[in-house]
Amino acid sequence: MAEVEHAPERVVFCSRCGTHMQTEMFGGKPRRRCPECRFIHFEEPKIAVAAMVLTDEGLLLVKRAVSPEKGKWALPAGYLDLGETPREGVAREVLEETQLEVKVEKLVDAFYNQPGAGASVVLVYRANVTGGTLKPSDDASEAAFFRPPDYPDLAFSSSKDIARRAARAFERMTRRR
Ligand SMILES: [Zn+2]
Repeated sequence: MAEVEHAPERVVFCSRCGTHMQTEMFGGKPRRRCPECRFIHFEEPKIAVAAMVLTDEGLLLVKRAVSPEKGKWALPAGYLDLGETPREGVAREVLEETQLEVKVEKLVDAFYNQPGAGASVVLVYRANVTGGTLKPSDDASEAAFFRPPDYPDLAFSSSKDIARRAARAFERMTRRR
């Protein structure tokens, strides 16, 4: 397990009652805890969702218009929002970044990143295009299908891993014809 700060000093006040938080041991780890209402602040992993859209034209990638890894290409992806299912999150992100409507299929894999910039957990789903016209928007400055294995400069280990798998799947797809 990575070394992380479980009791960050930036958590000054209790989000429930406003009392000054203290650091105390809880479950074997130091945590920020409210001495008044006993509320415990937990540092939680951020979850992102991504789409693997692979068609006859190739793998759908977007050029990142924002940090981290601005200017590099990645799967359409973003943070899962509170209240939406992972599949709803995937469909929303693809629509936001590419204007394509998709039907989200099976979970391909779950990736883990060390805490820092970006998401700790990335859930990648297969998705098939059902409508819309490809046009970059939101966090994407460009959006296009790339015929594997001819990819642009890729960001993130999850996108690189999925791109390799897409290349193998694409080879099988094209060999069948
Ligand atoms: Zn409190």
